[in-house]
Formats: sequence, C-alpha cells, structure tokens
Amino acid sequence: MINILDEKTISKIAAGEIIENPAAIVKELIENSIDAQATSITVEIKGTATEGISVRDNGTGIESEDIDKAFLRHATSKMAQFDDLNYLKSLGFRGEALASIASIATVELLTKTKDSVTGSRTLVQHGDIVAQNKIGVPVGTTFYITDIFEHTPVRKKFLKAESVELHRIVDMVKKIALGTPHCAFKLIKNSRILFQSSTSTSLKDHVYSILGNMVAQMNYIEKDFDHYSVKAFFSDNTLYRSQRTEQYLFINGRYIWNVELARLIEKAYRSSIPLDRYPCFVIYLTIDPKLIDINIHPQKNEVKFSNGPMLMQSIRDLAEVSLATTKTFISSHIPS
Ligand code: ADP
Ligand code: MG
Repeated sequence: MINILDEKTISKIAAGEIIENPAAIVKELIENSIDAQATSITVEIKGTATEGISVRDNGTGIESEDIDKAFLRHATSKMAQFDDLNYLKSLGFRGEALASIASIATVELLTKTKDSVTGSRTLVQHGDIVAQNKIGVPVGTTFYITDIFEHTPVRKKFLKAESVELHRIVDMVKKIALGTPHCAFKLIKNSRILFQSSTSTSLKDHVYSILGNMVAQMNYIEKDFDHYSVKAFFSDNTLYRSQRTEQYLFINGRYIWNVELARLIEKAYRSSIPLDRYPCFVIYLTIDPKLIDINIHPQKNEVKFSNGPMLMQSIRDLAEVSLATTKTFISSHIPS
C-alpha cells in the first residue's frame, strides 16, 4: 500500500535534512538575522545545547501580519520565483528553516519592526502557533528554541556528546563571523562568553581578530576578474596544519566547502611545505549569482560553478603568486 504522508510527518522528515544538530539551528537562525540586516547577533546557550538556544538580533524584525506565514514550509520573503535565484543576495531562499526548527523543537519568537508601535510574542509547539500576544521589545528579533529533538527521539539519539555538539556551535559561529565583517557576534553559554567578534571596516583587522596570530604568517592578495573578484589570505611556507582545519572559502558571504579547490591550492604548496600538511587560507569570492548554483545541497554549503575549472585555476594562481612573494628559506624543506 502506498501512503500519502500528512504535513506534520513530511515536515519532520524534511527537517532531518536541514536540522541535523543544534549547530544547524544556530546556523539557520544567524543566517536569517544576517539577511535581516542585523549588525549585532547574540547566540546564547542555556543548559545543554539541546535544552535551550536563543538568537537575538537588531535586524529589521518581522511584520505582525507575516509572523504566521514565516513558520509555514516554503514561506520566504527572499524570492518569489525560481529565476530569482539568479539575483540572490540573501543567505536563505527556500523558506524551510523556521518550519523545520518548529517541527522538532519549541519556538518562542519576539520581534518588532521599526514602524510598529509594539512588538509581539509568538509561541510555537509541534509546528503550531499556540499563543500570540503584544509585548514591548526593542526593534529586532529573538528566537528562543527549547526541547530540541524532544519529540524526535531517534534524531536525539544520533547526537554526539555535549562537548562535540558545543564545539560544532562554536565552530559554526566563528565561521559565519569570519564571513560577515559588517556584523558583531557574541556566543554565550551559561553567562560565559565562548566567542566574540566586532564589526571591522578592514578585512585584515577582521580576520586577525578571529584567527589571531596565525594571520601574521598569511599574505593578503586581491584581484578582480570579469565576473568575480577575489580577496584572499594565504599562509606562507611556515604555516600549515595536519588537517584541513584552517581553510575557509566564502562565496558572496556564505561559507562553502569545496574540496576540489582545496586540493588545487594544496598542489601549489606541494614543494614548499612538508608532506601530509595542509596550507591555511581564507578566501572571499564575490561572484555574479548567475554563475553559481547554490541549490544543490540541503544545508547550502556546496556550490556548482558555471565556469568552475577556470575560476579555480585563477584562485590557485593567486595562491602561487602569494606563496612566491612570502616564501622564507627553511633549510629542512630543501629536498636532498
Ligand atoms: P528563508 O530564510 O529561506 O526565507 P526561513 O524559514 O529561514 O526561510 O525564514 C522564513 C522567513 O521569516 C524569512 O524569509 C524572513 O522573512 C522571516 N525571518 C526569519 N527570521 C528572521 C529574522 N531574524 N529577522 C527578520 N525576518 C526573519
Ligand atoms: Mg532562513
């Protein structure tokens, strides 16, 4: 027999693809805050990572008449038709995150726009709005997420130890902060600050404030191409890691993992750093949205380029130029 699943079941299944762990909740909520032009975002964990997460921003807020819609699947203010993806400036576009989070956790939303007199509070349980009232709050939006995976026990069972889930959150906030210099971030757990970044006008100051001293061993290089521009920091031949832990690529502000590009850049370093070691880089690629397809991965952290090989080669060339200008003489690396 073939069953047609009800909406609630469909939501929970769909949520599994986007909301794998508490860090994914943090990612989706922060991305919404960035899309809402926030310049300050505070993430707070109360208790363990599945007990309570809140994300507060000073962005545009949500209009009262839009609040109910925001929790529906495929409800978004960021696109109206498929072609809009060609002009996409926002991090979100599928309108699935809030519906997914609401289907696996309890959600409380406080929000106010600059033009509304009062703010509003909305409580969502099991995907349904169960309470809504007016409330005095500053302009912006705060989401409180509790009972995470409480009603999806299988999903909860697959979570890793608390320390691992927490590390994922810290890592996620750090990555997003690195890619978003115009916004200040704060991550707090039980009143302790785990991560903090401020807004910076200089990219170098920004990268330095997040990655710290290692940036002194990195070289900044930038270049404009026809349909894209690259601003990048590449490690010199004295800075490397045993894993690909310090390789960051941001495409139009979005953190992207692209192993092909990583391998290509690593080739440029092959004769300059020890075997089995990985160079560090932070690459900011600004590209016409028409030339990338971001819609190939549920969590949107992979892309397809329409002119991949040429683009990647041009970034590899930059790495090579950077390395050549910064190379310091290390006798132990000279092949015998
Ligand atoms: P998407 O980000 O793909 O549009 P979401 O489910 O994440 O979908 O959010 C649905 C909608 O709710 C967004 O399109 C936006 O209009 C609104 N929204 C969500 N979070 C915020 C926020 N922090 N500030 C302002 N609006 C928000
Ligand atoms: Mg979103």
